[in-house]
Amino acid sequence: MRNDLDTDGRGAGAFTRIPIDSYEVDREAVIAMLDRERRSLSSSLIGLSMLALGVAVLPNPAAMALLLALRLASFLFTRNATARLDVRVRARQPIKTMQRIVFGAMALTGVTLALMLWPQPAGASIAAVALIQVVVVVTITLIAVTLAALPAARDGMLVSFWATASALILFHPANSDPAMIGVVTLAVVGIRLYSSSAGQHLRSSARMLVENRRLSEDLAAALSSAEFLSWRDPLTGLFNRRKLFEETHTEGGAHSRHLLTIDLDRFKAINDTFGHAVGDEVLIAAADTIRDWAATLEGKGEHLAFRLGGEEFLVIARGVTDTAIAEGADDLRMMIAKLEDRFSERPGIRISASIGLSPWLFGESIDDALMRADLACYEAKRTGRNRVRRAA
Ligand code: GH3
Ligand code: MG
Ligand code: MG
Repeated sequence: MRNDLDTDGRGAGAFTRIPIDSYEVDREAVIAMLDRERRSLSSSLIGLSMLALGVAVLPNPAAMALLLALRLASFLFTRNATARLDVRVRARQPIKTMQRIVFGAMALTGVTLALMLWPQPAGASIAAVALIQVVVVVTITLIAVTLAALPAARDGMLVSFWATASALILFHPANSDPAMIGVVTLAVVGIRLYSSSAGQHLRSSARMLVENRRLSEDLAAALSSAEFLSWRDPLTGLFNRRKLFEETHTEGGAHSRHLLTIDLDRFKAINDTFGHAVGDEVLIAAADTIRDWAATLEGKGEHLAFRLGGEEFLVIARGVTDTAIAEGADDLRMMIAKLEDRFSERPGIRISASIGLSPWLFGESIDDALMRADLACYEAKRTGRNRVRRAA
């Protein structure tokens, strides 16, 4: 479905759909994975304790303790590598090197986990051997599922596990059944398949997260663009009548308030003589002058400038004394008349404004104050234009 705002210079950008960045999806998937990995600390420690328990009752605890120490070292190395990857990925720094280090750590994990399956002599406790085997298989499965967002590291671990376990089966004299390699291969392939479905799930959640975030950003941009369009006059960027209506609904406070209605003099003649485009340029220049003037006007509140329509403007000035606003209004009148210099390449152009000034009393509706300011402006027109008149 085409969005009409797309063809409009102002709406474009806010409504243009940018394809989802796959870097962002990968990043979110890795962050989710690292969160899971951090939370899995207690189960990792339980696994290591169970291995230690199994090793303790085996007939050769000293040799197995060495393998257990290797397993512990590899575990600490992995924790450290993933913690560093976490910092980098959150800071959006390049993670290639860290990914390689994690890959190395995981390959080592595969080797050290497989070494825990070192064949035991005939008299070894069957329960202890089974405990170690179960812990190894559960650990390798959990790690493979957790690591689903880093498929290379996961596969590195599975391959190194498979190769080490197969080497033990083939070359250790206590092992005699090469068919066990088939069993290990089946287990590894099963774990790999399970892990990749977990990876797809992780990636689609990450994608949804990125999409939702992008949608919220689009929505916020669209809202601010809609707010801008609904409150602003498109030609001059000044506030429009709708904003005036909202402003008077939120009006309150203790400072004095004044209204200035500013009507350009004989503006129709500019259009008629120089064309509508030049008329627009004059309107924009007058609006800029009014905005700049309001920005430098001293006072105790926010001054707002509006284009009410055609060549009619309004300023709400807050916290300015009667004398200061009268002087300020005359300054503004002179600044608008000075715009003629800017249009010197249009000989004969006349630019000036008549300004009506009125206090806006507390408790009084803006319509009443506006009517007084309009009457004063009309009076300025009637008495010769290019002047300021204060409401009676
Ligand atoms: P006065 O001194 O009495 O105010 O005379 P005036 O010619 O300024 O007043 P009038 O109300 O007769 O004419 C206003 C003109 O402003 C008429 C209209 O064509 C023109 N106008 C209104 N909106 C626009 C606009 O957006 N761009 C341009 N270029 N002209 C506009
Ligand atoms: Mg007018
Ligand atoms: Mg006019």
